[in-house]
Amino acid sequence: MSDCLFCKIAAGEIPATKVAENDEFFAFRDINPQAPIHVLAIPKRHVPSLNESDDGELLGGLVLFARDVARDEGLADGGYRVVINTNAGAGQTVFHVHAHVLGGRPMGWPPG
Ligand code: AMP
Ligand code: ZN
Repeated sequence: MSDCLFCKIAAGEIPATKVAENDEFFAFRDINPQAPIHVLAIPKRHVPSLNESDDGELLGGLVLFARDVARDEGLADGGYRVVINTNAGAGQTVFHVHAHVLGGRPMGWPPG
């Protein structure tokens, strides 16, 4: 989608600190980190939110990609959180589906 911030980041048209990439997915550091490690994992294909896709390969692949990012960031043993905010009431501000990978500090529950 031409007017989407995360599509432009995945295409290299807007700079970001890349963490990982393969044919289908891209990961980069959040510009406003909420934890010592805060990475965003996205599909390269534009999907506005979790509500708009039934593609199990894409959504399952996104979770596995986020898991691999967490592992490569050294979070696997200590623990981490993978969060997909969906629509405005949950705090979604960028409408290209993304998984937040958060770790490096204790995570409270319930989340805010
Ligand atoms: P959400 O609120 O779940 O939609 O998450 C969007 C996230 O994108 C927020 O955590 C923002 O800090 C982050 N963000 C916005 N613009 C950028 C950018 N240019 N580079 C990296 N992260 C960004
Ligand atoms: Zn997009």
